[in-house]
Amino acid sequence: MASILVVGSVAYDSVETPFGKVDHALGGSATFFSVAASFFAEVKLVACVGGDFSQDDLKLFQSRNIDLTGLQRVDGKTFRWSGRYGYDLNDAETLDTQLNVFADFHPQIPEAHRDCDYVFLGNIDPALQRQVLSQVKSPKLIVLDTMNFWISGTYKSLKQTLALVNVLVINDAETRQLAQEPNLVKAARKILSWGPHTLVIKRGEYGVLMFQKNSPDPELSAFGVPGYPLEEVFDPTGAGDSFAGGFVGYLAGVDRQDTRAMRQAIIFGSVMASFNVEKFSLNRLKELTFTEVGLRYKEFRRLTHFDDLEEEY
Ligand code: AMP
Repeated sequence: MASILVVGSVAYDSVETPFGKVDHALGGSATFFSVAASFFAEVKLVACVGGDFSQDDLKLFQSRNIDLTGLQRVDGKTFRWSGRYGYDLNDAETLDTQLNVFADFHPQIPEAHRDCDYVFLGNIDPALQRQVLSQVKSPKLIVLDTMNFWISGTYKSLKQTLALVNVLVINDAETRQLAQEPNLVKAARKILSWGPHTLVIKRGEYGVLMFQKNSPDPELSAFGVPGYPLEEVFDPTGAGDSFAGGFVGYLAGVDRQDTRAMRQAIIFGSVMASFNVEKFSLNRLKELTFTEVGLRYKEFRRLTHFDDLEEEY
């Protein structure tokens, strides 16, 4: 089993959905990612929190055996994000972003983490993402996440980071915004010409599309899965990051980066995201068991299975 280095935000989130509200709940891109990935592989977290970060929240990371050597604790307040979702839970409206201790964060990768084979660059300033890459040795797979905040605020810098990574995981609106192209296939072709060989597009409750370039073949290969049909969805916050956690976690767990493994990883990512949205904050992932993960993977197989036409005749 290989290990994963993850760098991203650890946050306190205030979230409002049509079904309820939470204030200052544990969140952040690296948090959802790490907890989801810890079901499959060893996770080493690099992030920064303020003096207000609670012991109970630290214990949650420890209970999942997440390595916290790279978690900096500094004076000041932990990153805060507040957002609201309407009935269309695919669309988060950011109400407030307070970088706080993140404003002066410079990721320091501990010596022991520099030879990690899998790197996940969570949703943070693309310049910081490059600082991480300059400190790691030669990972087998580098996966990048970002969001509209950075696409509109730091476009050029983000393109520089993109040139250095293998896989980009973003949602459909971000794909269109980044490529400045409304058609997802054309957008994928454009983004894949900038560096990554794989683009994973999260489409909220509608599922995931993966595009890969297999040079010298000019055609992109595409793979798509639906979202798991859930009756109870409470809070989509962290769905993207728990998806990425299941996706990269599985690849590191089996230590493979081929297309077959990536397709299975898409399902594990979708499984983790589908659990995450069932309760607020980390509440569902906290109580999740690996048996439940395996069962939902099987349900995904049933959901997407159909027979070849020839077999009918
Ligand atoms: P998602 O998986 O896309 O729903 O990500 C949700 C998490 O991203 C929340 O827990 C937020 O704390 C975090 N977040 C929101 N905005 C930012 C930002 N600008 N930089 C880093 N993290 C953010």
